[in-house]
Amino acid sequence: MVYDVIIVGAGMGGLFSAFELIEKEPSLKIKIIEKGKKLDDRKCFVSSTKQCIRCNPCSIMSGEVGAGGGSDFKTILSPSYGGWLQDYIGWDQTQELINQFNDILERFGDQTEIKYPDEELQQRCLRHNLRLVSSPLKHIGTDHGRIIMKNMIDFLLEKGVEIDTEKDVQSISKLQENLFEIETNKTNENSRMVILAVGRVGNKFIEDFCVKNGIKVHSNHVDLGVRVELPSPIWKEFEDKIYEPKIQYRTKTYEDTTRMFCHNSRGYVVTENTNGILTTNGHAYKDEKLKTNNSNFAILSSIHFTEPFDNPIEYVSSIAKLSNIIGNGNVLIQRFGDLIRGRRTTDSRLAMSTTIPTLKATPGDLSLVLPKRIMDNIIETIYALNQVAPGTSNDDSLLYGVEAKYYSIRPETSENFEISKNVYCIGDGSGITRSLSQAGAMGIYVAKKILNNDHE
Ligand SMILES: Cc1cc2nc3c(=O)[nH]c(=O)nc-3n(C[C@H](O)[C@H](O)[C@H](O)COP(=O)(O)OP(=O)(O)OC[C@H]3O[C@@H](n4cnc5c(N)ncnc54)[C@H](O)[C@@H]3O)c2cc1C
Repeated sequence: MVYDVIIVGAGMGGLFSAFELIEKEPSLKIKIIEKGKKLDDRKCFVSSTKQCIRCNPCSIMSGEVGAGGGSDFKTILSPSYGGWLQDYIGWDQTQELINQFNDILERFGDQTEIKYPDEELQQRCLRHNLRLVSSPLKHIGTDHGRIIMKNMIDFLLEKGVEIDTEKDVQSISKLQENLFEIETNKTNENSRMVILAVGRVGNKFIEDFCVKNGIKVHSNHVDLGVRVELPSPIWKEFEDKIYEPKIQYRTKTYEDTTRMFCHNSRGYVVTENTNGILTTNGHAYKDEKLKTNNSNFAILSSIHFTEPFDNPIEYVSSIAKLSNIIGNGNVLIQRFGDLIRGRRTTDSRLAMSTTIPTLKATPGDLSLVLPKRIMDNIIETIYALNQVAPGTSNDDSLLYGVEAKYYSIRPETSENFEISKNVYCIGDGSGITRSLSQAGAMGIYVAKKILNNDHE
């Protein structure tokens, strides 16, 4: 059997590509190959044991719906942030595709209210040298997001799209100009076209594919920092009005840019496992019964390397690995009060904390892991944020580390995102997106190009 299109990865990019293709051209033979589990079988044990048991592949990052399946399902409804798709295809077209992405979510059952930017909060932040980046946004929630995506997957299956889970694509070989062999750990498949939608976990896969096929790649910047957890009343006003305060700050000491983002109201801190290295992240449920008393968010400092070093992912992975070494195989947790007094957090100091952690991490000292410059940036940002949300710099605010956002390398691409004839690369794995809506939008865009037979 030769498929018309094989999509590697059942994340947002892959699923939205498949949707657009089958909706517009029902006769297409499409297969999605995913290395993780079916959505219903995905389970992160952190929610029950509070501790990562290092599943392979990680259930937060892999499986049907990809990283979206373990996410907070905040959907950003403009190109204001969440990736760089607008740099390639323009703001208006990106906005149109995001609208289409949102219409599809609504078609499969989403009715979440949209939160709009709030001028008064923006002004308050500006008065304290903080820039509140705003976009219309929905908090769909981990639980509700899964229901919507399950409806979408059922629709795809009904329409004849095949989804093979727990199959890891090992390599792709070109047999002829429009015939590829996709080798997995279990079967080999043939297809006329391939869409690589492998997400951030597939970074190495993309790198290997590019090396094998002589495709030039560009490295991206990296963001490094911590996840902060504190009692939810501290950011309640922002959460109620806009759900996600995404705030940028320029530090006074180094004039570096930091950002507070990925805010999870009354949520959970979780670990994500990328190729065996644990870093932090967070999410929140919609169901009132599953909410906690804490909110969490990331504070990250951006790093742009210049010549001769061009492997930022290796840099961040090494730092994350160091936190796992000191944390005895786990991520670290430290009270802000301990950090600024220059001492580690111990079990007994943590036991006295009035903020009860939602993740079991190893009490320790983040200053032994993060470079001084990054640590200084984070501390300065916490004090700056404290001016608009007093309580942020309380001694019992908890810092988990490290949190790292290393965006995949960017393969050189055509304007159709075709990195080699009949091979497309989309979503976070292309290094161009970093959000559900942009990954989905890019998936729809590439499907349209394929349907229009718009090749290089
Ligand atoms: C904990 C967490 C919370 C997040 N919260 C939000 C949020 O609230 N809002 C938001 O906009 N974004 C959020 N994000 C980011 C968002 O999830 C991603 O930007 C989005 O999922 C990217 O979609 P994608 O399809 O490009 O890749 P992914 O969703 O990562 O999907 C890629 C899929 O490809 C599979 N794959 C990789 N390699 C192979 C292979 N060789 N063979 C077979 N399958 C393979 C992977 O298993 C994975 O399932 C969050 C991410 C995490 C981890």
